[in-house]
Amino acid sequence: MDRDSRIFVAGHQGLVGSAVVRTLRREGFENLLLRCRADVDLMDADATNQFFADTRPTHVIDAAARVGGIHANRTWPANFLEENLAIQSSLISAAHRHGVEKFLFLGSSCIYPKHAKQPISEAALLSGPLEETNQWYAIAKIAGIKLLQAYRRQYGFCGISAMPANLYGPGDNFDLETSHVLPALIRKFHEAKQSGAPEVTVWGSGAPRREFLHVDDLANACLHLMRHYDSEEAVNVGCGEDISIAELAALVKRLVGYHGGIVFDTSMPDGTPRKLLNIDRIVASGWHPSIPLEQGVVSTYQWYLDSLTNLEVTANAAATPKHPPDTPDAKAGPLEAILSKIDGWRRGGLRIGFTNGCFDILHPGHVSLMRQARAACDRLVVGLNSDASVRLLKGPSRPVQDEAARAAVLSAFTDVDALVVFDGETPERLIEAVRPDVLVKGADYTVETVVGADFVRKHGGEVLLARLEEGHSTTKTIARMTAP
Ligand code: GDP
Repeated sequence: MDRDSRIFVAGHQGLVGSAVVRTLRREGFENLLLRCRADVDLMDADATNQFFADTRPTHVIDAAARVGGIHANRTWPANFLEENLAIQSSLISAAHRHGVEKFLFLGSSCIYPKHAKQPISEAALLSGPLEETNQWYAIAKIAGIKLLQAYRRQYGFCGISAMPANLYGPGDNFDLETSHVLPALIRKFHEAKQSGAPEVTVWGSGAPRREFLHVDDLANACLHLMRHYDSEEAVNVGCGEDISIAELAALVKRLVGYHGGIVFDTSMPDGTPRKLLNIDRIVASGWHPSIPLEQGVVSTYQWYLDSLTNLEVTANAAATPKHPPDTPDAKAGPLEAILSKIDGWRRGGLRIGFTNGCFDILHPGHVSLMRQARAACDRLVVGLNSDASVRLLKGPSRPVQDEAARAAVLSAFTDVDALVVFDGETPERLIEAVRPDVLVKGADYTVETVVGADFVRKHGGEVLLARLEEGHSTTKTIARMTAP
């Protein structure tokens, strides 16, 4: 896999997929194929096949799955089994048919027998009965590993499988009914702290032990395995240590700053007693985890708090004026930082707007454009043409101010929430990376001529042509300034 590879990250909006995308972008992989469920339903084999025929990915990281915690698995067994079987079958079959060079399938440590010897090595697969509560998900994932092994043996298809420990991190699901234990505890202790509740209820006896892996560590491992691993044997990815649920509850309680009690609800299931992974195989191949649990819980709690702020802003948007959450200094930044910020906003349910321009001398037309654009969204991202790009479009005498100066001035707008400088003639690639819900340009354009309009509309977004303020333009201003 190299920088030019066309990489399809299936499930890129989920906990794992979004971390994989963050990591790939950070490592300089730009050629990412990202589709949400509205674009391609991966349970639909024909639609998946057509998507592969149209886009021809060279590499696939399959993070698309129906996932959930112990209660969700127990409650919706048919969904967990049927949907995961369908998604992985259509993906593996389409990938093989359309010549994908390498395919990474992600499973989970729950594929191993309930009473497997600890720490669990990859060889324990299918050596005993599964844990009752999540057998549906486990059976589907085992079938995925086996399907890849079968494709490798029959067709020489290069598919590999990774089995992570219990994952957590930014972008996790905090819904108390469907989430896993770690985000559930963060939310429970936070809400108890806010309300002053005397105690927090933790499901089960507190005795089961779990191994928690930060999702950014897993994303790094995915990249490592795509580069260095090629075998039909699944490979475990964990942090090498586990902790009891009671100890985890005490840790989260301390980090959240809650001072009440903890009670255990033994009417809820414990699930498997322990599932510590043996990670010798991946460690021997040169990868090791880097995010300690305490540090990971602190940053995930912070992510949760940020997402709550975003939700409150959305809920209050109609009644109160919108205020940008960031100071001007924090608004501009490299693409990766801004994209991850946008990711957080989107997860918080916020509507993302985008506009772009040279903005080398600001006038009331620009103020009005920003105001109209911000009124149509919850967070406005501005693409700023780089100095080279402005010269290309407007000639060698422009821009009047360099990009750092232009970014500083634009950042002071309360209507602007984020700024990214882009090169080239058009912001097309930037728009594809941002995937705005609303794309805004001045009404001197028509919808047909707005760059990125097709892309945005195809992804369920809309294009807004902002009213122009008569009599203002940068070109006219410069002409007045330079008139003899
Ligand atoms: P599992 O690893 O597949 O069992 O998935 P979970 O993360 O859902 O559960 C792990 C353990 O945490 C189980 O023993 C649960 O009973 C326990 N647990 C304690 N409190 C909670 C909670 O609020 N939510 C969840 N999902 N699990 C909890």
